[in-house]
Amino acid sequence: MALMTGEQYIESLRRIDTKVYLFGEKISDWVDHPLIRPSINSVAITYDLAHDPEHADLMTAVSNLTGKRVNRFTHLHQSREDLINKVKMQRLLGQKTASCFQRCVGMDAFNAVYSTTYEIDEKHGTRYHENFKNYLLHVQENDLTVDGAMTDPKGDRALPPSRQKDPDIFLRIVEKRGDGIVVRGAKAHQTGSINSHEHLVMPTIALAEADKSYAVSFACPSDAEGLFMIYGRQSSDTRKTEQFAGIDVGNKNFGGQEALVVFDNVFIPNDRIFLCEEWEFAGMLVERFAGYHRQSYGGCKVGVGDALIGAAALVADYNGANKASHVKDKLIEMTHLNETLYSCGIACSCEGYPTKAGNYQIDLLLANVCKQNVTRFPYEIVRLAEDIAGGLMVTMPSDADFRSGEVVPTESRLTVGEWCHKFFQGNAETPTENRQRLLRFIENICLGAAAVGYRTESMHGAGSPQAQRVMIARQGNIDGKKKLAKDLAGIRDS
Ligand code: SF4
Ligand code: FE
Repeated sequence: MALMTGEQYIESLRRIDTKVYLFGEKISDWVDHPLIRPSINSVAITYDLAHDPEHADLMTAVSNLTGKRVNRFTHLHQSREDLINKVKMQRLLGQKTASCFQRCVGMDAFNAVYSTTYEIDEKHGTRYHENFKNYLLHVQENDLTVDGAMTDPKGDRALPPSRQKDPDIFLRIVEKRGDGIVVRGAKAHQTGSINSHEHLVMPTIALAEADKSYAVSFACPSDAEGLFMIYGRQSSDTRKTEQFAGIDVGNKNFGGQEALVVFDNVFIPNDRIFLCEEWEFAGMLVERFAGYHRQSYGGCKVGVGDALIGAAALVADYNGANKASHVKDKLIEMTHLNETLYSCGIACSCEGYPTKAGNYQIDLLLANVCKQNVTRFPYEIVRLAEDIAGGLMVTMPSDADFRSGEVVPTESRLTVGEWCHKFFQGNAETPTENRQRLLRFIENICLGAAAVGYRTESMHGAGSPQAQRVMIARQGNIDGKKKLAKDLAGIRDS
């Protein structure tokens, strides 16, 4: 069943016995839970747009494995054009959801595991690549959403996995059997994990031989025995459960999601194993996945940035401040920063190259520069949006106050709602409710639930800033640049 609709995707989640814990309890109705549903809607739109004639070319691609059209989120990039289209698709979805739509982690993991397994097999004579191709056929055929799971909790950052006090703090192989392996540990901050049909697990750092039991990559379904998830809360999340939450939530329909995914002795059959103790390949897998996901941020965050810039421009209209030259200049600055991020996402795609396995890898240096900029520019874009929006974004009464019919016993005999509408009017042509909605929308991205995706995820998602700086140092070819300087200056080493 290739190319599900959003509704079919949502129904498919109901058929999985995913164990979800939220506020200390196991919840059975997680698909319809008000805290979780917006994040499911964000993934659902990745399915719906694949059926939209306007976007189908961007949202789908022809599988190199089957020759059939598949959702681009399950595709192995076959060209630089595929890499560019990936970024364009992510910008589009950021614009449509103004949040994290979660499905990219799986796509980035597919491409990294595909090329790395090829090279492991080449060295060790293993059959991981065949295993992975068969797995991806299953993903493409069923149009699955997969959690690309890399980040371990990591414990004491000064110690390697095997020297941690708790040996489970990095996910590891605890038993090798004839028919498979048993794994134990956890993956933290897992974007879209609850909304995923399956999990594709990878190591989180380059490993030494002493840590070889931590060198493991595999896939398993969300309802595998021994697997459960604990939902990560977001700022202002309980607004979603309030009676009149519509306006106060800011972005009622869409959101992102992260969770802790725990593997308590989960059995993985042989045909779903893609790395098992070949420790010297952990670094390659991490580098490739991180590279793809750092490229991704040059698309998704730009799309969210588009929505935020639009909101800032609109609120300037509502406030009657749109003619002020400093406001116009701030909008120019926001656009400049946002398009710089996009340029980086496109550039690392244009400089992509084929791997030994045949799929295309992005330019690692430019992808790391892209993500390094993402750790900074959205913060500046948010600062400017808050500047233009004004303080009312964080001091405005609740929507319940705007709706209140309770008469305040003063001389005017106006209701609480009437007082709110009287004093929170901007320009006379704009209904107060429009201004209220817009300010809450900006609040949602800048410091509410969506700030997880636009701010802190920009900092730490796909690796914290220092991780990119390490890669930039490795890829930056300083020696080559020294040689340029020497040649130009006429310096000859004696
Ligand atoms: Fe996709 Fe961006 Fe969310 Fe990562 S942060 S899953 S790239 S939308
Ligand atoms: Fe992310």
